[in-house]
Amino acid sequence: MTRILLFLGALTLATACAPSQVRDTATASNPPVSADNEAMRIHFVDVGQGLGVLLEFPCAAMLIDTGGEQDGEFDSDAALTGYLDAFFARRTDLHRTLALVALTHPHIDHTRGVAAVTGRYTILNAIDNGMTHGSGGAGQSELQQFARDHAATTHYRAVHLEEIPQPLGLTDAVIDPIRCPNIDPQIHALWGQVATDPGWPGIRFGKTPFQNANNHSVVLRVDFGKASALFTGDLEEPAIRELVKRSTGSDVLNVDVYQVGHHGSINGTLPELVAAMTPEFAVFSMGPATRQLTWSAWKYGHPRKEIVDMLQAGIARQREPINVQVGLQGEKFVPHKVEKAVYGTAWDGSVVVEATADGQFKVVTARRPTL
Ligand SMILES: [Zn+2]
Repeated sequence: MTRILLFLGALTLATACAPSQVRDTATASNPPVSADNEAMRIHFVDVGQGLGVLLEFPCAAMLIDTGGEQDGEFDSDAALTGYLDAFFARRTDLHRTLALVALTHPHIDHTRGVAAVTGRYTILNAIDNGMTHGSGGAGQSELQQFARDHAATTHYRAVHLEEIPQPLGLTDAVIDPIRCPNIDPQIHALWGQVATDPGWPGIRFGKTPFQNANNHSVVLRVDFGKASALFTGDLEEPAIRELVKRSTGSDVLNVDVYQVGHHGSINGTLPELVAAMTPEFAVFSMGPATRQLTWSAWKYGHPRKEIVDMLQAGIARQREPINVQVGLQGEKFVPHKVEKAVYGTAWDGSVVVEATADGQFKVVTARRPTL
């Protein structure tokens, strides 16, 4: 009852104080997770068009990217810090500490929240691809500067492709600073900044694929006992093709959970990657088609119908069916039914994939699907 009254009170206050443009931070609400602190939880935080993934372990937490979308209708900094504050209020044993902050690449939908995160939480380690230019270059530079300013307590390393052993990936005490009493999660970098142009063909928006920071995304594989996940950032077609080639003859891309690359863009997932992963779950991080603004998922056409269908064809596991909007191209969406274990922050709110070390999974979402 108290909770209801508080909620009504907050609602009244919100209505009374509402500016002309209402910001949607309601989606920052944390899904109801179990009390099992021996599990790994992958929290795909709803940061709108962008990426912000919190990984929760029995003894530590880490963050991949910091979102997100910032416009008259959504505030990703508020969404991300609201989520993290609620998380640390539950996990008081972690003392508002992120063992690792990893930035995949310097684009604003991935680095916008760097200042908000460094200003609020303790950060022990930081990695990125070493670049400082791009729409999110300021955020990535800020993280690097933060590490320099706090060198005694925050370790930093840039990840370069040329130093990554093939096929199993690169790890060290900065990339993988987490070891819990009963389990040692494994974190490996499989891709990073590419030093020299491999001659990738095709020019988009006046840039070669090599000049596109997406293709220099830090790619991470995380293992928790028998459970595993892959985070490809915004890696695009030519780099994904090379990543798959590098993994040939190994199981390094064979994972259970896939952070769908580039928010479900047509160039962010390839059939050979899905074949190599054989994923059980796929999660898109994107904004809703209803926010029809300049830097929105609607503008880009995320997620593309072809990618949703490719993942539905490649995943056997079912989900509670949901009717969603999928992109045919930028600004053009159609209704679509999703029945396989494919989730999206625009559809479900924040999505949490819970995994036990013996490979049992559960998904909880902030919103229940509406059919
Ligand atoms: Zn992005």
